[in-house]
Amino acid sequence: MKDSLYGLTLDRLAAWLEERGQKKSRASAVWEALYRRRVTSYEQMTEARPECVALLEDQYVIHTMTEHTRQESADGTVKYLFKLRDGNLIETVLMRHKFGLSVCVTTQVGCNIGCSFCASGLLAKSRDLSAGEIVEQIMNVQHDLDRAGQGERVTHIVVMGIGEPFDNYDNMADFIRIVKDPKGLAIGPRHITVSTSGLAGKIREFADSDLQVNLAVSLHAPNNELRTRIMKINRAIPIEKLMESIDYYLERTNRRLTIEYILLKDVNDRREHALELAELIGEKRRPLVNVNLIPYNPVDEHSQYQRSEQESIRAFYDALKKQGVSCSVRLEHGTDIDAACGQLRSKQIRASRDEAKAASV
Ligand code: SF4
Repeated sequence: MKDSLYGLTLDRLAAWLEERGQKKSRASAVWEALYRRRVTSYEQMTEARPECVALLEDQYVIHTMTEHTRQESADGTVKYLFKLRDGNLIETVLMRHKFGLSVCVTTQVGCNIGCSFCASGLLAKSRDLSAGEIVEQIMNVQHDLDRAGQGERVTHIVVMGIGEPFDNYDNMADFIRIVKDPKGLAIGPRHITVSTSGLAGKIREFADSDLQVNLAVSLHAPNNELRTRIMKINRAIPIEKLMESIDYYLERTNRRLTIEYILLKDVNDRREHALELAELIGEKRRPLVNVNLIPYNPVDEHSQYQRSEQESIRAFYDALKKQGVSCSVRLEHGTDIDAACGQLRSKQIRASRDEAKAASV
């Protein structure tokens, strides 16, 4: 099967052409066609030399997925379900904010982290996505915007869809290099956020890397007992180890870090949890940390969890603020569609299984 052309960084594309007797500089024309003019076929790559196009066409494809389903919300959120060449389905979400358009991308088919509240984690990882498949999600959304003709552009990227991006580190890193390349999509590094469930070793690697984009860490609980209940990864990487890697990241990068905290009714949303969280963050980290409180979107499969009351969310927020912790409550998008991450995908997969079962009886 041919690889995705979107998976090549500009340097790698130039080297690939050079190895085949082409001038390295010809890569720029291909890059220009792909990311500036955003062509969708080789025939449209008129600025590139025909011999370059022929070589590329021989080994790479531009499209590796098709749109399977989409849901559009009244607030402009669009949830796409893309079908990969191997039949797997992945989710990508476009969200509209006052500050621009952001896209949330998926990095793996399924996820092995198994957070107990998550619709995506119900389906184990079957494979990693290639860098090209992650870039193509952005390009599909951008092509959709191009077709609408309003001149809208994807301005922000959040790597928070299905999967643990640090469990697919190399492809995630190439994806970031490609989308932030100033000669291509040129998405600003400060407009890109990668979210991890807390793989401590990879947080250090990320801190030492050239990527220089924002990091969000899913904490979801202020102590080990509670965190292990909510996220089984905490057994392998307890909070102390995670905080050490966060300290390393803050020292190395001096960049702000987001702590994600999903609020689950009567589980982790009490005032004492907020105070414990403020203490865990501590004075030293406080200037560089922002806590993002996420009201839970209930999913059928996790009936043990409910959404926190509005007063509890307010009280949690106030308690953190009072302790001098910078925090915000995540604005919700697409509440009239399958809003929780992975919900649309798991629904579709269940529906197909039910159909297959019904057909076999
Ligand atoms: S929340 Fe993220 S890391 Fe946890 S199971 Fe879901 S997709 Fe995986």
